[in-house]
Amino acid sequence: MAQELTVDVAIIGSGTAGMGAARAAQKYNASIALIEGAQYGTTCARVGCMPSKLLIAAAEAVHEIEKAHRFGIEVGKPRVDGRKVMARVRGERDRFVGFVLQAIDEDFPMVRKVRGNARFLDDHTLQISDGTIIRADRIVIATGSRPVAPKAWVEALGDRLIYNDHVFEWDDLPESVVAFGGGVIGLELAQALHRLGVRVRLFGKDGAVGPLSDPDVRAAAADIFKAELPFHPDADVRVISREGDEVVVRFLDHDGQEKTERFQWLLAATGRVPNIDNLGLENTSLPRDARGVPSFCRSTGQIGDSHVFIAGDANAEVALLHEAADEGKIAGDNAGRYPDVRERPRRAGISVVFSDPQIAIAGWSRQEIDAREIDYEFGEVMFTGQGRSRVMLRNKGMLRVYGQHGTGLFLGAEMVGPAAEHIAHLLSWAKQAGLTVQEMLDSPFYHPVVEEGVRTALRVLARKLRMGPVPVEQCLDCGPGG
Ligand SMILES: Cc1cc2nc3c(=O)[nH]c(=O)nc-3n(C[C@H](O)[C@H](O)[C@H](O)COP(=O)(O)OP(=O)(O)OC[C@H]3O[C@@H](n4cnc5c(N)ncnc54)[C@H](O)[C@@H]3O)c2cc1C
Repeated sequence: MAQELTVDVAIIGSGTAGMGAARAAQKYNASIALIEGAQYGTTCARVGCMPSKLLIAAAEAVHEIEKAHRFGIEVGKPRVDGRKVMARVRGERDRFVGFVLQAIDEDFPMVRKVRGNARFLDDHTLQISDGTIIRADRIVIATGSRPVAPKAWVEALGDRLIYNDHVFEWDDLPESVVAFGGGVIGLELAQALHRLGVRVRLFGKDGAVGPLSDPDVRAAAADIFKAELPFHPDADVRVISREGDEVVVRFLDHDGQEKTERFQWLLAATGRVPNIDNLGLENTSLPRDARGVPSFCRSTGQIGDSHVFIAGDANAEVALLHEAADEGKIAGDNAGRYPDVRERPRRAGISVVFSDPQIAIAGWSRQEIDAREIDYEFGEVMFTGQGRSRVMLRNKGMLRVYGQHGTGLFLGAEMVGPAAEHIAHLLSWAKQAGLTVQEMLDSPFYHPVVEEGVRTALRVLARKLRMGPVPVEQCLDCGPGG
């Protein structure tokens, strides 16, 4: 006899968004079921943000040593012990996962934890894979996303085709990897593996470099990464096949010659899809868009005017950790207080790629500004000659800042360059505060810092908006190298 359960709120998925939703909903003394179909621990801690940054940290250590001779310091060629690198990645990853498991155990005493995959039978009824039926007054979908690769690769390559999840399970570093996907995950992992001594080739599509949308910033980024590793942002790959335990790739090289190379693994970083296709949404009356994604309100998480809410990667909007956390909180709060659904303000945009140099978008990207048909200008700075960046031998890349004609409002920025993770915070806070370009220029800038480059770009922007003077070239009284 299948078990039956009736709750006020059912939450499908116990990742970052699901846990946030449970935390918010339990404030309303609601009876809650938190349903998890796979492992506890979250994508972020297990196979996402944290293990990728651990791998990158090891790669940066090698890179700094290799670079030391440019400061006049000779340390010899570093030897990478792949087993030790992966042991640290997995060990620290397990520590982070451990904190999540502890939170699942300790932070939700009143929440009923259900194991198994959930599917909608109708608007209020879920069936769990073991047959359990859950009737819920309100439901939060927080099912995350999963990586995908073209079907032909799956069939041709079998177990030689891997995703990010597999990388963080390695005991040792492999000899070679061909990575597909010039987006965030492909770029981060390919560069890190390359720096750790793995023979890597990275193929992208349509010129994409991370999330950059400004064609000039994107071109600058492509040039930087192409100079360091074999990277084809607009790849022409002729054949991908498997011979024995090797992946064989035939492609057109930068010189226009056809080339064949063999690799141990093909790492597919070719995109992620929301986990909504096996949810039985067709059994509900929930409105969905052409892709089958539930139509929801970004300020409430509510799907249509229903009792169902959606949060995190599952909504196919912005697949970032802090967005998943915010959306989980909003959806859970509204599921708890339903039908008194409240709109919550969303934060200004920020996204960072932990490549070297880092890539970042703060506020609106150029593409988002274009879509809004705003009358705008951009100011820019190249980091090649920027004082502090040069001091640190990190003088690569460029920053573009965008501002609105008439109002002088700061709209957003795209960059590849030094300290991008920090500059992106500064700029997204400015966007959220609704600052004008002039107000930003009136704010303090220390010397000598990379942020002086931001000031240069803002000065150029103010001038182009016809709101400021012609910037002084090589302004030494502003600080050498500013
Ligand atoms: C390699 C990589 C690096 C990343 N790096 C960063 C970074 O540096 N910064 C950043 O901001 N973001 C990063 N991200 C993105 C970030 O990890 C995600 O946006 C975030 O973890 C999504 O959280 P979530 O709660 O939506 O999904 P998840 O944490 O994936 O949770 C979803 C849960 O739902 C469960 N589930 C699915 N379907 C069902 C079902 N039918 N029934 C029951 N349970 C179900 C799943 O098993 C899973 O546990 C990275 C992602 C990857 C893959």
